[in-house]
Amino acid sequence: MYDTEAVNIVLSDRITALAESQTIAMAKKGRELAAQGFDVINLSFGEPDFQTPQYIKDAAKKAIDDGFTFYTPVPGYPELRQAIVDKLKRDNNLDYKPENIVVSTGAKQSIANVVMCLVNPGDEVVVFAPYWVSYEEIVKLAEGVPVPVMGTLENDYKVTAEQLEKAITPKTKLVMYSSPCNPSGSVFSKDELEALAKVLEKHPQVFVMADEIYEYINFGEKHASIAGFDYLKDRVITVNGFSKGYAMTGWRVGYIAAHKEIASACDKMQSQITSGTCSIAQKAAYAALQGGSASAEEMAAHYLRRRDLVLGLMKEIPGFKTNVPNGAFYIFPDVSYYFGKSVNGKTIKDSFDLSMYLLTDAYVALVSGDAFGAPNCIRFSYATSDEKLVEAMKRIKESLAKLQ
Ligand code: PMP
Ligand code: GLU
Repeated sequence: MYDTEAVNIVLSDRITALAESQTIAMAKKGRELAAQGFDVINLSFGEPDFQTPQYIKDAAKKAIDDGFTFYTPVPGYPELRQAIVDKLKRDNNLDYKPENIVVSTGAKQSIANVVMCLVNPGDEVVVFAPYWVSYEEIVKLAEGVPVPVMGTLENDYKVTAEQLEKAITPKTKLVMYSSPCNPSGSVFSKDELEALAKVLEKHPQVFVMADEIYEYINFGEKHASIAGFDYLKDRVITVNGFSKGYAMTGWRVGYIAAHKEIASACDKMQSQITSGTCSIAQKAAYAALQGGSASAEEMAAHYLRRRDLVLGLMKEIPGFKTNVPNGAFYIFPDVSYYFGKSVNGKTIKDSFDLSMYLLTDAYVALVSGDAFGAPNCIRFSYATSDEKLVEAMKRIKESLAKLQ
């Protein structure tokens, strides 16, 4: 008999050094506890709780019946790339051609493609913090050096032009941010983006990756794109996708709009890794765009109501300090007030301990802020029902009251 125990599995340094996605890890822990029979409320995962709109599902069924079962062109079906060009004109007043668009298996792959295609070992990548979990790890996979720059709570967690200026060195290759931001919910205004663009104008070796995946979940002024500044446009890679606005997380469709050389590089990259995105999902994404932003606006109205509900309940909890998020579906309070407090002989040292305590005492899954480069904070995803949100906040308040 072959002894499987005898195999010495030595994994690559690359994968050994890679951190697991904390958003996914916490969601998994929550599900495991739920499977053991505990009534867990999962506010950890950043995923719309809505079904994909029916007209999109119908288009996918039709795609199967119409025989769209073959490999797709690597950067996406031509009509989908054209529809994305039309969307960028309609919503963002940006002029692109299909050759500038690459459709990928989720915006996550779009981001990985861009970083792999631009960053050389040792290049610095300025990452606005708090940042989305995967940015830093993707940069490290490319052997780049992440340079987190932290926005302050007083400035709505938004990095200022002065902070950006200070962070740029001759080694800086790329700047990355999301707006609306996961995890802070902050949204850059057009004026704020212009101030950042003016700094970047002076550094022609620096590219910008603007992650606009939460574009349609925006409660404030009209969404602004940094690619809208002509003098910078060729150095901006706009990332967007269908997961959030159209509630299509499982379909896995994202895209970039970029200079055609960057687009061809990303095309080449994914030709060796995944090939073109799923044919059926692309047909569904095409249909989604034909429907414009109406379904997204309907969902955004629910997110806004839930945001206000949770913010209201959060005010009743001592020690939570937060900004008022203007987009996405997250609230990211500073919870450091609780560090050093104890219960049953166990001291809460940091936000990870607090998230574990709330998972095991209140049965509410949240994600600790260190995963987002902000160790004093904790992330709430409020993309769930009002009833669950009310119950979760009640349990959290009771559990925190036990800490001395
Ligand atoms: N960017 C941000 C800021 C996100 O929150 C997400 C959500 N997972 C993504 C990119 C990736 O989205 P997807 O791969 O589902 O398109
Ligand atoms: N974007 C979501 C989140 O931040 C999904 C999880 C992930 O892809 O990491 O929770």
